[in-house]
Amino acid sequence: MENENLLAIAREFGDPIYVYDASKIISQYNRLNNAFDKVKKVKLNYAVKALSNLAILKLMNSLGAGLDTVSIQEVNLGLKAGVKPANIIFTPNGVSLEEIEQVSSLGVQINIDNLSILEQFGTKHPNVPVCIRVNPHVMAGGNSKISVGHIDSKFGISIHQIPHILRIVENTGMNINGIHMHTGSDILDVEVFLHASEILFETAKNFKNLDFIDFGSGFKVPYKEGDIETNIEEFGQKLTKRFNAFCKEYGKELTLGFEPGKFLVSEAGYFLANVNVIKQTTSTVFAGIDSGFNHLIRPMFYNSHHEIINISNPDGKERFYSVVGYICETDTFATNRRISEIKEGDTIAFKNAGAYCFSMASNYNSRYRPAEVLWHNEKAHLIRKRETFDDLIKNQVDVDIFSTVVEEA
Ligand SMILES: *Cc1c(COP(=O)(O)O)cnc(C)c1O
Repeated sequence: MENENLLAIAREFGDPIYVYDASKIISQYNRLNNAFDKVKKVKLNYAVKALSNLAILKLMNSLGAGLDTVSIQEVNLGLKAGVKPANIIFTPNGVSLEEIEQVSSLGVQINIDNLSILEQFGTKHPNVPVCIRVNPHVMAGGNSKISVGHIDSKFGISIHQIPHILRIVENTGMNINGIHMHTGSDILDVEVFLHASEILFETAKNFKNLDFIDFGSGFKVPYKEGDIETNIEEFGQKLTKRFNAFCKEYGKELTLGFEPGKFLVSEAGYFLANVNVIKQTTSTVFAGIDSGFNHLIRPMFYNSHHEIINISNPDGKERFYSVVGYICETDTFATNRRISEIKEGDTIAFKNAGAYCFSMASNYNSRYRPAEVLWHNEKAHLIRKRETFDDLIKNQVDVDIFSTVVEEA
């Protein structure tokens, strides 16, 4: 997006604020879809947890994407956005049987990732087709928090437990209609992904009534210049070949599924914040902004790099800054970063602020969560209002149970 448009949005709606460029989401969706245009049936389910605003879900629905959800609340958001239950898949981890049953009764595809629930669900609902999430034990992912496919990961049913799965399927008479894996975010190497895919094909051969194979996600997007990103086109070509060959062998045209979050929305997002104070110490120049890890936690939580530009003065002389928040704990967005000279009152923009940014925001330090704007067809649409004091106290119960002790003089 152009700096002037971002600045105008900050001026009109105030900051801190999240801005999403719809055209970038659309082009990413089309890019992934096109990479698999030689596969007859493809289903891209957008991972709601990356960015769950209703307007974003409506946009995905209009593109033909389904939704990948991890909680019944995400399912309900999807339904509220007008997504049909048949276009939603529920891929939770560690949730209760009751929640899975509730979601299933809405007509949503269930994906089960442990033997205990598989057996309980299959026993009670043998006629409901179920997808199973397997763990292919492929080490992948950018860091230990987002790498979910390794041997001691809590996600998925181990491929070494397939005999056990088959026993449950036979005993309950349940129907497995899909096989799924999700090895983690930030997969750098197409070959790693293809290796995991082979394991999934091997697993799939054990099940006779499949409708789809879901390859999860893990597409890497560039966070800074020179960053490696997943080569979608190369990956598309290679997996298409293997998938089509597998369908032939299997004897049925299966649907190829993915559930990208980051790939679709990360680069579409900008987080804008005002610089409150410039503080020069003997060693460092701090730019203190009107925000903190309550609004954008990825740099502190994952050590993520977000490019920062001074949109009030994009062409100034570059200087080194440590960009920090106002939270009363160390909350550093960036250390010794080259940024065009910043003055107090300038607005800075964090890039790649579409995925896991607003959706991980909190009210820590009793701050309001920011507003969100969708930029579509050269127009800014407010899609979430900034919170107010009422939001902070809405669910608090103001008890009146303490008597004030008055000291006698
Ligand atoms: C989080 C998640 C995704 C999305 O991952 P990205 O790295 O954002 O693409 C997909 N599938 C499942 C099951 C997930 O938990």
